[in-house]
Amino acid sequence: MSRGARIGIIGAGMGGVAAAGLLQRQGFDVVLYDQAPGFSRLGAGIQFGPNVLKILSHLDGLDKKLERISCLPDYWVSRKWDDGTVLAKIPLNAERARYGAPYITIHRGDLHQEMLNCVEPQRVMWDHKLVDFTDNGQTVRLEFENGKTDTVDILVAADGINSRIREKMFGAEEAVYTGWIAHRAIIPGVAAKALGADVNAKWWSDDRHIVCYYLDRNEDEFYLVTGEPAEWTSRAGQLPSSRAEFKAAFKGYHPMVQGYIDATETVTKWPLKTRAPLPAWYEGRVVLLGDSCHPMKPHMAQGAAMAVEDAAVLARCLGELGTSDLEKTFGTYFQARRERATKVQTISNANTWLRQPEDPYWCYGDDIYDLKLTS
Ligand SMILES: Cc1cc2nc3c(=O)[nH]c(=O)nc-3n(C[C@H](O)[C@H](O)[C@H](O)COP(=O)(O)OP(=O)(O)OC[C@H]3O[C@@H](n4cnc5c(N)ncnc54)[C@H](O)[C@@H]3O)c2cc1C
Repeated sequence: MSRGARIGIIGAGMGGVAAAGLLQRQGFDVVLYDQAPGFSRLGAGIQFGPNVLKILSHLDGLDKKLERISCLPDYWVSRKWDDGTVLAKIPLNAERARYGAPYITIHRGDLHQEMLNCVEPQRVMWDHKLVDFTDNGQTVRLEFENGKTDTVDILVAADGINSRIREKMFGAEEAVYTGWIAHRAIIPGVAAKALGADVNAKWWSDDRHIVCYYLDRNEDEFYLVTGEPAEWTSRAGQLPSSRAEFKAAFKGYHPMVQGYIDATETVTKWPLKTRAPLPAWYEGRVVLLGDSCHPMKPHMAQGAAMAVEDAAVLARCLGELGTSDLEKTFGTYFQARRERATKVQTISNANTWLRQPEDPYWCYGDDIYDLKLTS
């Protein structure tokens, strides 16, 4: 197998798209499949740290494009839920030079679209739900729900927390509901400004929190996302909620937070699920990345970041170590990623990140292109 090896990636989320863009630039014959009928603009925000922006600079300067359209908070502020006391003020872009890249907050739809623009459109196959695959030691045969099949040299699983590929490799097991949900809503930036909003803040009480930030350079949209204990019995990945339900969950919180919630129109709620770390992320010609192998509660805002870091390290391993000895190439990838991804997963699940003053350099200052790849 050569640089021209055909690589099938299942899942066009942040991890799969990053992998496709990076592997395509290395000369691999990449095909990216997703079950969705097409791109859809999820109504939510996302934070991407300097550790990710350094990787996106390898996609034809995507980092610069994103910097032009996203919000660039100087600080992350942790506040006490009732009186707003500042618990921690952590430099983000205020220490950009030290981290080596900017920290952005942005609308997920805008970010995802810009990332997809970095993949040649003929390589993206929508409406392809993988239902089965067979690795015969030489190639991997893919079977899709729409009746189509394909044969690839390598299969990359970027199919998220309910990965069909992980299930076939390691056995079917439901993701674990953490007992927490996230409410999500976007309000007009002017409403947030009128209340004196911080550019990027997290308000903490003992058993819940609300994270609030702008989504764009002009501060036109302001995003609210929470973490809170709740019952969840539905099998749905999200459900409609309401301003009243949101408000009840944050009763007694500071008037600024009450004001944010009063400005909401459409409110959704999402169950937060996780899984225990896997013993391996590859087998034969099949390799996992992102939420398919290390899903986490989102409390470090690093889940998608870890998926993109995985994609970049995997692309480096395939490019630099080649495809003739996949045990070595995938083993090197796993060794390079396991400790960091598990550390982030553990801290994220514990929900302690930046509550108190701490230096986030180990996370944001990291550059996967400095890694020495050793098997
Ligand atoms: C409330 C909340 C807030 C978050 N905030 C942040 C944040 O600020 N920063 C951050 O870095 N992370 C954040 N995260 C985490 C982040 O969203 C996930 O970690 C990230 O989306 C995982 O990316 P992925 O590419 O691995 O999987 P996904 O984004 O889940 O993508 C998987 C893709 O695979 C497709 N797929 C699934 N099964 C199949 C199949 N059988 N065949 C074909 N296609 C299939 C799906 O349609 C989907 O497009 C947050 C998460 C939540 C819940």
